Amino acid sequence: MSEPSGLLDECLVPLTSNDDDLSLLLELTALLHDAQLYLFHLGQSHGPQKLHLLGEELTHTLGHVAQNLTLQLLDGWGTGFLSPIIGGWRSSFGFFYSIQLHARFCRSSTPRNLTQEFMMADAPRPLVDPYALSDSDGYFWVKGNLHCHTTNSDGRVPPQQRLDQYVEQGYDFLCLSDHRKITPVDSVDVPKDFVLIEGAELHPANPFGGQVHHFVCLNIHQDMECGKMPPQHVIDNVNEQGGQVWLAHPHWSSINIIRDTLPLTGFSGIEVFNSTCRFMGRGEGSVHWDDWMSLEGRVYPCLANDDTHGAPEDNRDTYESWTMARVKERTTEAVLEALATGASYGSTGPEIHSIEITREGNTAEVTVKCSEARRIHAIQDVYGTEYREGGELFTEATFSLRNNAKWVRFEIIGAQGDKAWSNPVDLRD
Ligand SMILES: [Zn+2]
Ligand SMILES: [Zn+2]
Repeated sequence: MSEPSGLLDECLVPLTSNDDDLSLLLELTALLHDAQLYLFHLGQSHGPQKLHLLGEELTHTLGHVAQNLTLQLLDGWGTGFLSPIIGGWRSSFGFFYSIQLHARFCRSSTPRNLTQEFMMADAPRPLVDPYALSDSDGYFWVKGNLHCHTTNSDGRVPPQQRLDQYVEQGYDFLCLSDHRKITPVDSVDVPKDFVLIEGAELHPANPFGGQVHHFVCLNIHQDMECGKMPPQHVIDNVNEQGGQVWLAHPHWSSINIIRDTLPLTGFSGIEVFNSTCRFMGRGEGSVHWDDWMSLEGRVYPCLANDDTHGAPEDNRDTYESWTMARVKERTTEAVLEALATGASYGSTGPEIHSIEITREGNTAEVTVKCSEARRIHAIQDVYGTEYREGGELFTEATFSLRNNAKWVRFEIIGAQGDKAWSNPVDLRD
């Protein structure tokens, strides 16, 4: 039995001993051809005896598709390959056990690499620097909201009126993302040059122990019965339609990235801010964002969305946050491309005009140009820095970044405490 070499070299499946987990596992086995599968289990209520029973159950279930199946019950504290992720759990779970299951699946004689085949099935696309896309080449900024609800689900405003309101407010693009329901673009009157993206908020079950998932799905055209579908099936279905899946308001959903998100693959990025969730004190998902990028060793772009439910006169969740995208034309394709490649930023007020990073060896310096700001935070994979001018407002800042960082992103804080979130820059290139 060889030792696993690292988190992303294996497929990690958190389990509780219920039927959903077993069916998820069986789906996974369908994806695997020749691989090792490691399973771990989290929970404080399961003693070793119960885990042993679960292990026997799994051995039995997998017996018909696997050969050379060995099962090892481990105390998670002692397993080297899990220790990077156990660290985050020690404080919230009194006990930690893991099941380590090594299965050699016999459907194919061709060895395949799980890292490529499953965890990283969507090899990350390098992000684009939106500030390098110049006006002279025909690029311009467009403003949009990718998450709102209408009377087609639990919104207060009918679809046409919702669209008209965002048009009047000067937005350039919008997605009517009702819960589990697509509003067809041709069912409303869309002004010329306005980009209405078809989509929905989908809620697949969460077999990993957390609350039901909330995914903002853009550019999908077929409703699906997602409530009973495993989350990976929903994500795959959206991607097969040419759509995008964005992890919505992770703080409000009490998402734990390790438990609920890391087992899944195929996301376009994360909703870093959600206006309506701010009213419950859970509007910002930046810690989840950083956590996710650190755990996966890659960068993800962000969206800032209203998640509008009310009417404008409610003065609650309309026009409070938005996403700016850098495009050459006003089309769904151009906006989606900008979002997926991070040629965008999110904001509740400040504008980002440019971010220029110069690197020399392990050191890096940045110059940020923006609308009036009081502070700029450079958030890196470890630590970070702050730029300020003693509380005075400024529109340009040059400062050093921490050495040896893998990535950096910037938060620009405006005069009123409003904020803009740049997308991360991968410093390893
Ligand atoms: Zn939601
Ligand atoms: Zn929503």
